[in-house]
Amino acid sequence: MPKLIKLLIASSAAAIASLTSVQAQMPPQQPDHKAFKIGTLDVIALHDAQFVRPNDSTIFGVGHTPREVGDVLKAAGAPTDTVTLSVDALLVKEPKHVVLIDTGVGGALQQSLNQAGVKPEEITEVLITHSHPDHMGGLVKVGKLAFPNATIRMSAAEWAFARKNTQLTDVIKVIDGHVETFKPGAKVVSQITSVGLKGHTPGHVGYQIVSGNEKLFDIGDTVHSSIISLVKPAWPVGFDTDEKGGEKIRIETLAKLAKSKELVFTPHFPFPGVGHIQADGDHFKWVPSVSTSN
Ligand SMILES: [Zn+2]
Repeated sequence: MPKLIKLLIASSAAAIASLTSVQAQMPPQQPDHKAFKIGTLDVIALHDAQFVRPNDSTIFGVGHTPREVGDVLKAAGAPTDTVTLSVDALLVKEPKHVVLIDTGVGGALQQSLNQAGVKPEEITEVLITHSHPDHMGGLVKVGKLAFPNATIRMSAAEWAFARKNTQLTDVIKVIDGHVETFKPGAKVVSQITSVGLKGHTPGHVGYQIVSGNEKLFDIGDTVHSSIISLVKPAWPVGFDTDEKGGEKIRIETLAKLAKSKELVFTPHFPFPGVGHIQADGDHFKWVPSVSTSN
C-alpha cells in the first residue's frame, strides 16, 4: 500500500504534506455503491477508498505485539501481516434534503455518487462525524467545494479541533464560511439526529437516521477494524486522539448496540459497512446485513 495513503489516516497531530497534494498523488480507487431502504428513505452506501495497514502495532494493538494482533486476525480467517480498512460514506435522501454523511479522503467517492445517479450539486447538507482527512478530505475537489450547494455541519467542538489540524489547512480555507455547527444531541436534518460519541476526537459524533419504526445509526470511527475493534475493544487504537476516551466510548457503544440490536453503519468496516453488533462471549462480532452481491 502506498505510504501516502497510510499517512492520511495518521493522527491529526502529525504535520504532513497538505491533503490536496496527497490526493493528487493517490492511486485510482474503485467506485462502488449499495442502495437500500430505511423506512421510506432511500439510503446509499458509497465507497471511497481501501486502506491496508501493516500489522506493526502502531495503530491496532498499541502496547501489544504484532504476534498477538496476528493471532486475533488469524482466528477470524484474515491475513496476519496486514489490517484492511474500507473508507465509505453514506447518502440519505430525505423528501427535502439530500444528505451526505462524511466525504472520504477524496478517492472514488465522486465516481461512486455518479454510479448511484446523484450529482454533487444535488447535495444539500454534508454531515461530518469528525475532522480526520479520511472523512473530510472529499469536501474539496481541485481547490473548490466538491458539493457547492451544501451546508457543511459538524459539532462545534469538532470544528474548533479541525481548525488546528495542519493536515486540513487547504480544506479549511475552502470550506470556511460554509460550515454550521451544533451541539451533540441536536437534530441536524429533519430525520437525522446527532449523537455525541466523544473519544476518537474531541467533538466526534454519530448520526441516527429514523424513518417510521426503522433506524440506522452511523457510528463514525467509534470502531475501525471489523475484527480487532470487536474482539479486543479495550486495546488502544493509534487513531484515537484520546486513547482512554476512545476505549471507553468503544466498549460502551458496542455493549449498547449488542443489546439494542439496531442497524449500524460504520465507515471502515468491509463495504457497505451495514450490519449488527452481536455479543460473543466477553467480546463482540459483526453481522453484515446488506450484501454487496446485487
Ligand atoms: Zn476514519
